[in-house]
Amino acid sequence: MKAVILLGPPGAGKGTVSEVLVEKGYNHISTGELLRERIRQKTPLGLEAKKLMDAGQFVPDDVVVSMIRKLLEASSPDAEFLFDGFPRTLVQAEKFDELLASLNGTIDHVVQLECPADTIVERLVGRRTCRKCGSVYHVSFNPPSKGDVCDVEGCELTQRSDDTEETVRKRLKVYAERTAPLISYYEAKGLIQQINANQPIQDVRADVLKVLG
Ligand code: ADP
Ligand code: ADP
Repeated sequence: MKAVILLGPPGAGKGTVSEVLVEKGYNHISTGELLRERIRQKTPLGLEAKKLMDAGQFVPDDVVVSMIRKLLEASSPDAEFLFDGFPRTLVQAEKFDELLASLNGTIDHVVQLECPADTIVERLVGRRTCRKCGSVYHVSFNPPSKGDVCDVEGCELTQRSDDTEETVRKRLKVYAERTAPLISYYEAKGLIQQINANQPIQDVRADVLKVLG
């Protein structure tokens, strides 16, 4: 089992980069998307998670790690995974190392997407997503080809309830406090590769593909 981790603040473009990596055969795992699925299904976990997510806070480590454990334990040993938004705390990173070791898995690359805060706010406030296929758009930077409708599914696009300026600023603070320390954690393991995510989408995607060989 092989893992690539996309590390970076909300809005850096992790989901947008993932779209091309999926075409290369990676299995995309977004913990945010797994949680939103549970919110849509109105499970007890989903209802609890929604409150935290709308407040810009993290869902508890044990909840997220247990979702990932179940998923990996049920997967083929030679699968290649792309983690988007996980791990997000040092505890998650340590538990993830233990889990991978127990499954004979390795982390091949940790790709760090760098992007300034003001750009991020602009990106997230204008983000639109397709509820059906998860495609990510932006009202000005990456608009759908017609109206407010997904190019793939043809259905209306939605705006996430946590993509308000106030919640985005809160999420950036939480990122700096709890996720940014992962950069030195993976640097010490010689795994970090930095990408400038403040360039046009095609260039960011090309740089990530280059790093992954
Ligand atoms: P973004 O990349 O815009 O931050 P995500 O879809 O990755 O959005 O995450 C949305 C929300 O889901 C986060 O703000 C957080 O509340 C929760 N979440 C996602 N992944 C994790 C995680 N690994 N640990 C804790 N909470 C998480
Ligand atoms: P993340 O998964 O890191 O939270 P997304 O991939 O969802 O970020 O991107 C956030 C928003 O910014 C989306 O509306 C997306 O269309 C837009 N976006 C992503 N990458 C870029 C880029 N390089 N330039 C301009 N806009 C971008």
